[in-house]
Amino acid sequence: MQLKGKCAVVTGSTSGIGLAMATSLAQAGCNVMLNGFGDAAEIEKTRADLAKRTNARIVYSGADMSKPDQIRAMIAGANQELGGVDILVNNAGIQFVAPIDEFPEAKWDAILAINLSSAFHGIKAALPGMKAKRWGRIINLASAHGLVASPFKSAYVAAKHGVVGLTKTVAMETAELGITCNAICPGYVKTPLVEKQIDEQAKAHGIPRERVVREVLLANQPNKAFIEAEALGDITVFLCTESAAGITGIALPVDGGWTAH
Ligand code: NAD
Repeated sequence: MQLKGKCAVVTGSTSGIGLAMATSLAQAGCNVMLNGFGDAAEIEKTRADLAKRTNARIVYSGADMSKPDQIRAMIAGANQELGGVDILVNNAGIQFVAPIDEFPEAKWDAILAINLSSAFHGIKAALPGMKAKRWGRIINLASAHGLVASPFKSAYVAAKHGVVGLTKTVAMETAELGITCNAICPGYVKTPLVEKQIDEQAKAHGIPRERVVREVLLANQPNKAFIEAEALGDITVFLCTESAAGITGIALPVDGGWTAH
C-alpha cells in the first residue's frame, strides 16, 4: 500500500485508461474520486465494485470537463468528500478525425476544452491544497501525439502538444514545493476512444477495420502491439511514489518505440 491515505482525482475515469489508473491508485491505497460520463447505474456499479475490491473510499463527480465552473466544483467536492487532492490525474479526453479544411469548428473547440483547458482549470483549483501540504502529484495524460503528429488529427495533436507544454511549466513553478507534474504519452491503447477511431479511419481511408489497425494505427508503433491500460495504471502509481519525487516535467513515452523513430 505505497499510497495509503492519499486522495486522488482521476478525470475521465468511467472508462478506458482513466478507469485503469483509478483502479491502480485505489489498489495502492488511495481514496479516489471518479469522474466521467456514462450510464448512471453502470457508473454506480463501477464505483461500488472498486470500493469493495480495494477497501478504498471511492466517490464520483459527474463534472463536465468542458465547463471550468464544474471542474472547480469537482475539486472543491474532492476537498470536502475526500479531505483533499494529493494526486490529480488529468485524463479526460475526446478525439475527432478529419482533414483540417473539413474539421468542424465545434469539434476543435471541444477537443481543446476537454483535452487541454480542463487540465489547466483542474491544476489551478487543486494546487493551493497541494502547496499547503507541500506534497502533490499531477499526472497529465498526453499522448505520443503530444510529441509527434499524424494527419487528420489537428485539434488532438495541438491539444496534446499543449498538455506537454503545460506539464513542463507547472513542473517549473512547483519544483521546490514537493509537487511533481508529469505527462504520460501512450501510443495506441485499445479503449472505446480507439475503437471509435478505427471506424472513423476506416471511413476516411476507405479500407476495412483490420487494415486500419495494422496499416494506420499501429503503422508507427514498432512493437505492433496495443499498450495495456493496466500498465499505464502501474506507471501512474510509480510516478506518485517517493521514489519518483525527482521526476518532474517529463513527457514519458509509453508507445512501443513509436517516438524513437
Ligand atoms: P475513453 O473514451 O475510453 O475514455 C474517456 C473518458 O473521458 C471517459 O470516462 C469519458 O466519459 C470521459 N469524458 C469524455 N468527455 C468528458 C467530459 N467533457 N467531461 C468529463 N469526462 C469526459 O478514452 P481513453 O482511450 O481511455 O482515453 C483517455 C485519455 O488517454 C485521453 O486523454 C486520451 O487522449 C489519452 N490517450 C489515449 C490513447 C489510446 O490509444 N486510447 C492513446 C494516447 C492517449
